[in-house]
Amino acid sequence: MPDVVVIGGGVVGLTIAYELAQSGAQVSVLDRTEFGREASWAGAGMIPPGASAHAPQSLQSLSIAARARWPQLSAELRELTGVDNEFAECGSLLFPARENWDEEIAEWSGVPHTVITDDPVTLKELAPTLSPKHGTALHLPTAAQVRNPPHLRALTAACEKLGVTILPNREATGFRQAGSQVTEVETSDGNVAADCFVVAAGAWSTDLLKSTGVELDVEPVRGQIRMFKCEQQPFIPLLEVGPRYLVPRADGRVLAGSTEEWVGFEKHTTPKGMEELHKFAIDLVPCLAEATVELTWSGLRPYSRRGFPHVGRAPNLENLLIATGHFRAGLSLSPATALEVRRMVLEPETGPTYPDLLPESNSPSNH
Ligand SMILES: Cc1cc2nc3c(=O)[nH]c(=O)nc-3n(C[C@H](O)[C@H](O)[C@H](O)COP(=O)(O)OP(=O)(O)OC[C@H]3O[C@@H](n4cnc5c(N)ncnc54)[C@H](O)[C@@H]3O)c2cc1C
Repeated sequence: MPDVVVIGGGVVGLTIAYELAQSGAQVSVLDRTEFGREASWAGAGMIPPGASAHAPQSLQSLSIAARARWPQLSAELRELTGVDNEFAECGSLLFPARENWDEEIAEWSGVPHTVITDDPVTLKELAPTLSPKHGTALHLPTAAQVRNPPHLRALTAACEKLGVTILPNREATGFRQAGSQVTEVETSDGNVAADCFVVAAGAWSTDLLKSTGVELDVEPVRGQIRMFKCEQQPFIPLLEVGPRYLVPRADGRVLAGSTEEWVGFEKHTTPKGMEELHKFAIDLVPCLAEATVELTWSGLRPYSRRGFPHVGRAPNLENLLIATGHFRAGLSLSPATALEVRRMVLEPETGPTYPDLLPESNSPSNH
């Protein structure tokens, strides 16, 4: 079994560490801060039933595999750690966001769906507090949600139980190489040697990989969230209009998200962002005007300019793997991403399951 160092303790890095440790590998995970405090903590926890029919085939397959793994992964984590990540198949209602509604519907042709047209009564049954001005939507009954903070707590605790070495407050600063092999990762507290290295450092991965000569196209995109607290859960399904959404938690909290802002590594909320989210939330569910705004926050999504994540071996470095660039779907895609990285580490002789997702210079989509 190889010794593996995972760089980045977000949901992607922690799930990879968990799956590798389950298979008996010796794993260390290091993070420059506390574990799971960046994009993975900030996310809304939506798990779509699959990817858009317009996405590359590999991304569609990854998404289907990830959705299929969530119930079992959640049960495993609960059994191992006692922490419930609140995974729930809550369904989703998608409202028209673009001029061509038929095109939006067609994106979801590959997953279970029902089109609801001019039928506020049916919509009211699915989401009683929805504004009556909405009568048309697409219902995706197998969409799901998970609550990010307990999921990250469960993953960290599970890794610890399985003997993973957890190294918080330890920043990776570069790599030592011998030919086509990485021998050590250089960190703020000394070098760490291993047989294999996995970079899962989210929006920070591009800078970290520069020292290896790998040019990644991943950059931060800020997303803001406004959280309301209601007396009780005001509706069950996720409510989505293009990139905006409301996510209801079982305890009455409702997350309103989110913005997409190219502002570098500036991680803070803005009055404009908050105002837009507030207006959006009340327009969709008017009773939220009476709810308390409990918390606001923002996070930096790892956006890949090529439009889909990097999952696979780094070009020219045999024992360095990359798993990042999941943008708005890193939480939902983390279970299948982790299984693919585990396979690549433990069965290096086999080919990729998701060839389109290989880091840039290997990817057929880029030629
Ligand atoms: C507002 C918002 C809403 C979202 N909603 C959803 C959603 O509903 N569903 C969904 O699937 N996704 C959602 N996302 C996207 C999702 O959160 C991200 O795609 C996912 O969290 C990325 O995980 P990650 O582990 O790659 O990155 P991160 O969580 O950012 O983790 C990377 C880790 O690497 C560490 N690190 C960085 N550099 C170094 C270094 N040099 N050395 C050591 N450690 C380092 C960081 O400290 C960090 O902990 C949302 C994101 C945001 C911001």
